[in-house]
Amino acid sequence: MIDSGLAIYVAIAVALVIAVLVFVLARKSGSKANGVPASVIPAKASANAEVISRDLTDNEILGTIESKSIPMDIPESMEGRKLKLRERLGRSQGSLGQVFKQTFSGSTISEDAWQDLEDTLIMADLGVTAAAGIVETLKNAVKKSSASSAQDLHEIAKSELIKLVDGGFDRTLHTDRHADRPAVVLTVGVNGTGKTTTTGKLARMLSAQDKDVLLGAADTFRAAAAEQLTTWGDRVGVPVVRGAEGSDPASVAFESVTAGLEQEVDVVLIDTAGRLHTKQGLMDELGKVYRVAGKLGAVDEVLLVIDATTGQNGLTQAKVFSEVVPVTGVVLSKLDGTAKGGIIVAIQEALGVPVKLVGLGEGPDDLAPFDAVDFVSGLLM
Ligand code: GDP
Repeated sequence: MIDSGLAIYVAIAVALVIAVLVFVLARKSGSKANGVPASVIPAKASANAEVISRDLTDNEILGTIESKSIPMDIPESMEGRKLKLRERLGRSQGSLGQVFKQTFSGSTISEDAWQDLEDTLIMADLGVTAAAGIVETLKNAVKKSSASSAQDLHEIAKSELIKLVDGGFDRTLHTDRHADRPAVVLTVGVNGTGKTTTTGKLARMLSAQDKDVLLGAADTFRAAAAEQLTTWGDRVGVPVVRGAEGSDPASVAFESVTAGLEQEVDVVLIDTAGRLHTKQGLMDELGKVYRVAGKLGAVDEVLLVIDATTGQNGLTQAKVFSEVVPVTGVVLSKLDGTAKGGIIVAIQEALGVPVKLVGLGEGPDDLAPFDAVDFVSGLLM
C-alpha cells in the first residue's frame, strides 16, 4: 500500500519535470523562430544581470556573454589612486629626485651640478633638446629670483618642472553619458603595450565613480584578449560584448555601441587590436573600427596606450597610430617599471595630446589619472 502510494508520487514528480523541460525547450526554439542568430548580452551592469535576447544586425555570430556571479571587489577611490601615483613614482624614479636634491642642496649651483641635472633628465627620456631647455629655464628662473636658500631653489625648480609637464593641456576624460547615448571610448596602441589591461582597469575606475560601463572586445585577432577582458568585466560586474575569434572587429565595435545604447549605460569602452604590420593595414582595420564605432553618435575619446619602458621607440610607433585615428589622450603604461618618466613631456610635445592616465603596475587598481603636480611631487620625493 505504502509502495504503490510512493510510486504514484514519483510518477507525478517525473511528469512535472518532463512538462517543465518541454516548456523551456519550446521557449528556446521560439526565440530563434525567425532564423537570425541571437546574441545574448547581460542587461545593465550587474553581476547577476537580467539577460536579454536580441537579433544581430549582420551575419556575424557574436559569442554568448555570460555574467558570472563571482563576488565583486570594490575598486579603489580616485584619492587612493592619486596617492599611489606619488608613491610609486617616488620609488621608481629615484635617481631624478636624488639629483634634484643634490643640485638644489646649497644656496648656489655649480656648472657641474647643472650638467649632472641635464644628464639625468636626458636619461629620464626627456630628449636632449627638452633636457637642455629645462636646465636653461631653471638657470634663468634661479638667476631672476631672489632665492637664497636651497629650499627656495628647490621650490622654483619644482614649479618650473610642473609648468613644463603640465603644458597647459586639458586632461578631462570624456566619459560622461550624453543625453541620448553613452560616451564611446576606444583604446588603441601596439600589441603588448597594455591596452587590454588598461581597458579593464579603466572599467574598474569608472565603476568606482558610479558609472555604468559596457566593454567591447574588438581585438578579435587574439582569443586571449577577449578572455582577459571578460575576466575584468566579471570582477566588477560589467557586461562584455565579444565576437568569435577572427570575426570583423568593426562589427564587434558596432554591436558594443548598440548594446550600450539599448542598456542605457554611461560609457562603452572598446578594446582594439594593435597589429602594426603596415600603416595601410592599420588604417584598414583600426580606421574602420573608429568609423563604425562612431556611426551611432561619435567616438568621444581615443586613448593611445604607450609602454613607458619602450622610450623613444614607443613614441615612433605612437606617431603612426595618431596618423590613423584622432588620438585625444595618452595612457602611459608600465611607469612603475622604468625611471624614464620624462617621456611624458616628449610624448605631449610630439603628439600634441595630453597624457591622461598612467599605469602603475599589474594590479587591478594600478591606473591613476595623470596630474602634473602629483607627478612632479612623486618625482622629487
Ligand atoms: P595588449 O596586447 O596591449 O592588450 O597588452 P596587455 O594588456 O595584454 O598587457 C601586456 C602585459 O603588460 C601584461 O603582462 C600586463 O599585465 C602588463 N601591464 C599592463 N599595464 C602595466 C603596468 O602599468 N605596469 C606593469 N608593470 N605591467 C603592465
